[in-house]
Amino acid sequence: MRRYQRSIELYEETSKYLAGGVSSNVRYGGAPVPLFFERGEGARLYDVDGNVHIDYVLGNGPAILGHAPPRVIAAVAETLSLGQTYAGQHGRELALARMMTDLLPSAELVRFATSGTEAVQMALRLARAFTGRDRIVKFEGHYHGWTDSVYVSCRPSPNEAGPAEAPVPVAESPGMSPGAYESLLITGWNDLDALARLFETRGSEIAAVLMEPMMVNGGAILPQPGYLQGVQELCARHGALFICDEVITGFRLGLEGAQGRFGVRPDLSIFAKAVAAGFPLAVVAGRRDILETLQTRGVMHGGTYNGNVQSMAAAIAALEILSADGGAVYAAMEERGTRLMKGLRGLADKHGIEMVVQGVPTIFQAMFTKTSPGNYREAAAMDRDRALVFSRALQAEGVRVNPRCSFFLSTAHDDAIIDETLAGADRAMAEIGA
Ligand code: PMP
Repeated sequence: MRRYQRSIELYEETSKYLAGGVSSNVRYGGAPVPLFFERGEGARLYDVDGNVHIDYVLGNGPAILGHAPPRVIAAVAETLSLGQTYAGQHGRELALARMMTDLLPSAELVRFATSGTEAVQMALRLARAFTGRDRIVKFEGHYHGWTDSVYVSCRPSPNEAGPAEAPVPVAESPGMSPGAYESLLITGWNDLDALARLFETRGSEIAAVLMEPMMVNGGAILPQPGYLQGVQELCARHGALFICDEVITGFRLGLEGAQGRFGVRPDLSIFAKAVAAGFPLAVVAGRRDILETLQTRGVMHGGTYNGNVQSMAAAIAALEILSADGGAVYAAMEERGTRLMKGLRGLADKHGIEMVVQGVPTIFQAMFTKTSPGNYREAAAMDRDRALVFSRALQAEGVRVNPRCSFFLSTAHDDAIIDETLAGADRAMAEIGA
């Protein structure tokens, strides 16, 4: 039995001073309390009670090179005494901007921000300013940050969400201003006909279609073949912008993210998380004529910490590693992730557990459902309670996943770690039973 006594004590103490004991509501899911960690190294996290965790949460995605990747840490350490943020320009911004525009065909220009949430806001403002239109198409089950303008229909319960053909926008938090999200048009993802119908009726009002090009937050679901191309075409035909939120998928589904993997060219994209391997950085990348309006038309984007020296240094080092030998690290990660996905499926069969393991090898989810979900409504039907039970059983075996049982892979998850994970999953499945 693993013990969490010290975490429990620290959580109680912290809650006296820090609201809810956490700095992000996403962290409430820890068991028995949000755990306290002392350090992370490679694929492992070490908590204050002496428990070691093979970590598949990876900070919710950023730690693509594992925790504390030595080359990134060294590159950042070299800059610490140079200062942090100048409210002025520096060479590392040039180096990273050049690198990103070289690596990503859709990135004619980039602009740096600090979090995914705010970068999405910049992309939406750019889209509205550029097109002179107001409406944004947003998909059920997709998450684009926690602001009033987009924290809508991210995980709606089926009885609130209205009919699948005409979803009702569902605000996901108390305190949101209805005026902030009334310009959203909510529809189902992976359904090109539904989007085509929306464009037929509202086409002249739509500034942009915003999406996770592979759905991750509402259940790991791949775009159907041709779907993203269809969306791109519809957007082009109706003069709307196609915006890919690659906060999770960027530099995870490959060097060119989901857009490279599935072969589309969005007008604007948002990158964050993996791009700086754990340091705070978000990037809006896209068409020159759109991004230029930040200067030529004064479309406002600010941020005190944008382009800070350490985040730039981290991202340069991370992208050097990720892009070496044409992105060779991805092939290795894909191979190990595939083995883990297959291994989990085999174990589920062995234990008679109804489980679908779906996604791509570098980010996938174990879902307790009979059939593979193809959209949010289908994903919402999976057994979330059982996922929670399995995530806890895995934790007891030293394998850390989020309460939805998503697995993020890093370059540090080597073959021995995968073997250890599968052995732990075998015992966890025996524990939860069929
Ligand atoms: N978009 C997507 C697809 C995300 O997954 C997230 C965060 N999980 C965000 C935006 C928001 O990013 P951040 O947490 O950095 O604000």
